Amino acid sequence: MADIRLEGVGHSYDGGRTWALRPMTWTWRSDRAYALLGPSGCGKTTLLNIISGLLSPTTGRVWLGDRDVTAVPTARRNIAQVFQFPVLYEEMSVYDNLAFPLRNRKYPKAEIDQRVRRVSHLLGLDDHLRRRSRRLDPGRQQIVSLGRGLVRPEVAAVLLDEPLTVIDPAMKWTLRSKLKEIHRDTGHTLIYVTHDQTEALTFADEVVVLNEGEIVQAGEPTELFLSPAHEFVGHFIGSPGMNVVPAEIAGGAVRVGAEAVGRAVGEDGDLPPGPVRIGVRPEFVRITAAQATPGLTARITGVDRMGAYDLVRARVDDHPLVAKTGAGSRYAPGAVEFFRFDAGRAFLFRDAVRCGSI
Ligand code: ATP
Repeated sequence: MADIRLEGVGHSYDGGRTWALRPMTWTWRSDRAYALLGPSGCGKTTLLNIISGLLSPTTGRVWLGDRDVTAVPTARRNIAQVFQFPVLYEEMSVYDNLAFPLRNRKYPKAEIDQRVRRVSHLLGLDDHLRRRSRRLDPGRQQIVSLGRGLVRPEVAAVLLDEPLTVIDPAMKWTLRSKLKEIHRDTGHTLIYVTHDQTEALTFADEVVVLNEGEIVQAGEPTELFLSPAHEFVGHFIGSPGMNVVPAEIAGGAVRVGAEAVGRAVGEDGDLPPGPVRIGVRPEFVRITAAQATPGLTARITGVDRMGAYDLVRARVDDHPLVAKTGAGSRYAPGAVEFFRFDAGRAFLFRDAVRCGSI
């Protein structure tokens, strides 16, 4: 198994006027299951197609282990790719579709049979092996496509581009855990592209967050949730996303208007005075009688009852602040309350990048 290394890889579709992917250096480790997460148009497919060789990067080199594959065509890169929609030989049986990538590479017959049956079993296709692919519904056809991508043991990586789009929600959960199981079995590098945070967080060892053609943070799901390094990660991961309140640093204190919210602690020493933005997730905001910092006063505007919890909505000047509280809370719109932030969970951002905490 080999790492995939991108060295200064970038891509522009319009001769360098705009960059779908800004030049980046990044290593995908061989034993890991990655989710590549980001909104529509952020460059996920562009990045995947560069790795598989469907697209040549405008700048930089692509390495598979110690082999420079930048100019190597897709068919000789030893990478499997699964797309959003089924890509199958419709007149072939499910068995033959799954066996095809192995027969193509001259695997012994007994091994082909064993591998096809293993993948078919894990993906719940056993009862369909003899059926022609075109007779299956689109969801099941897509599962066969997934199986084709996962059946080869020797591939360096399996790239999955929103592979569960056509699958119904209940089945998605099952398939994601099956994918993890197959990954544990094979040890392939798995890169799973999605714009759905739940899909990314439940699937991956490591989530790589892409925004506007740039990796803004990568880490374990819990780390991205607890410790966002970029405002975008705070917004995009979490439901609802991180609160953001404009503030000011003066004399080492963070202030919102006239109120002192707490002490500014810089990531790299003291923070210079000036504007910052406080970022704190609704999960780490408590409404308390004791006005101990860090925290601030806000006027409650409403309560959303979500069943398992309540979302208490408030305003600080013109800015919204949301606290996630236990279900059945008794906060009245119009009341002024103190919103306290959990220790170590309120961060400071400048130009969207984290620079400290309160
Ligand atoms: P989605 O989730 O919608 O598929 P994505 O994150 O995969 O989006 P890309 O498809 O990689 O994003 O697109 C990144 C940017 O490059 C977008 O602005 C898109 O409009 C642009 N783009 C993609 N393909 C082409 C192309 N063939 N020609 C010109 N621009 C393109």
